Amino acid sequence: MVDQVSEICGSMEGLTLRRRKYLDKFLTREGPFTDPDSFMPGEPVIESLSRTKVLVIGAGGLGCEILKNLALSGFKDIHVIDMDTIDVSNLNRQFLFRHADVGKYKAEVAAKFVEKRVKGVKITPYCGKIQDKDEEYYMQFALIVCGLDSIEARRWINAMLVGMVDESNPDSMKPMVDGGTEGFKGQARVILPSMTSCFECQLDMHAPRAAVPLCTLATIPRQPQHCIEWAHIIAWEEERKEITLDTDDPEHITWLYQKALKRAHEFNIPGVTYSMTQGVVKNIIPAIASTNAIIAAAVCNEAFKIATNTNPFLGFPGTNNYMMYTGDDSIYTYTFEHEKKPDCPVCSTDAVARPLTVDGNSTLQDFLDSLAERPEAQLKKPAIRTEAKSLYYQFPPGLEEQTRPNLAKKLSELVENGEEVAITDPAFPLQFKYKLIFK
Ligand SMILES: [Zn+2]
Repeated sequence: MVDQVSEICGSMEGLTLRRRKYLDKFLTREGPFTDPDSFMPGEPVIESLSRTKVLVIGAGGLGCEILKNLALSGFKDIHVIDMDTIDVSNLNRQFLFRHADVGKYKAEVAAKFVEKRVKGVKITPYCGKIQDKDEEYYMQFALIVCGLDSIEARRWINAMLVGMVDESNPDSMKPMVDGGTEGFKGQARVILPSMTSCFECQLDMHAPRAAVPLCTLATIPRQPQHCIEWAHIIAWEEERKEITLDTDDPEHITWLYQKALKRAHEFNIPGVTYSMTQGVVKNIIPAIASTNAIIAAAVCNEAFKIATNTNPFLGFPGTNNYMMYTGDDSIYTYTFEHEKKPDCPVCSTDAVARPLTVDGNSTLQDFLDSLAERPEAQLKKPAIRTEAKSLYYQFPPGLEEQTRPNLAKKLSELVENGEEVAITDPAFPLQFKYKLIFK
């Protein structure tokens, strides 16, 4: 058995060398799409690729694929950041991890695994949050490749990279190659901070999913998920109002599951299961290994082309920068230019307040809640002020207490029609400005 394993490992190394041989052909001769002004085939480009310092953010489903792909594409100085530890449920697709690794840090285990398999590659792990690192740290890399599942983390790194751009220093512009997947769907994009549309400009591409109308849930459920949502939203409220729903509590999920099952029987709808209940209530979309592989491949090809200039890549201003992929209904891909938003709070140099029509009779609390759902804001812990006064702050506790009575007040009592408000959120190093217009 041990012999077999070492034989396989040995042949893997041979395979790696053979793969590199073909890859190097891209780097040692011109192709029909190479730009003679920016690409010089030969040893120097192979050498410079091996010295290119690249940062991978995320060592999960996409991250495992990305680390493996970059290592096999000729990158030899790779850094990886991930704060998570390995869970047994990751093992079906996060192929750099084994059962014995459960509980260990993803970044560390992934780095060791790839280093062992692909000789000559150095992977430096950091087990922690991207927010732990500062501008000086990010400045050392030539490009950043993201395989994240969190919008919040992407917004943070995007704001950091855009903020780092210093027009007098071309090296301060760090291309960000971003991949994302959700079930059978995914996207790959390149952001050239300050030059192309940034993640914040594209935020509405990640609009929170539309909810099923309440009347469907209450009267004519058609799908098992409708029965679960009914139990979640309506039955719990009616029968267990005094208990706060904890989606990690198996007793709570069991209660919802049984309620949903009973309702499904009444309407003759098959398919309600415990794990579906968990998925719907916790809003879990199954991760699909092959979607990760497709998106990671696209992302790494862009990283390879950016590092070597062999072929045109996504992201030149005025050209395509965003590729979407969907395997929901057979296969469809579409590549387009996502344009910069002139009022983007991150990358626009002269961002003016965005006009926002609101109901003057709604309360400040309602308004703040709506910011969580608004596709271009998606702020969960907003603080809000006008030029003259603080309307509501979550921190520090003293200010929270002082501004809390405003939450119940009508917007029209707090601001003038057409007045500007500034909104911040502790998760993001940026400020949103809105001009409130009463309808
Ligand atoms: Zn932007």
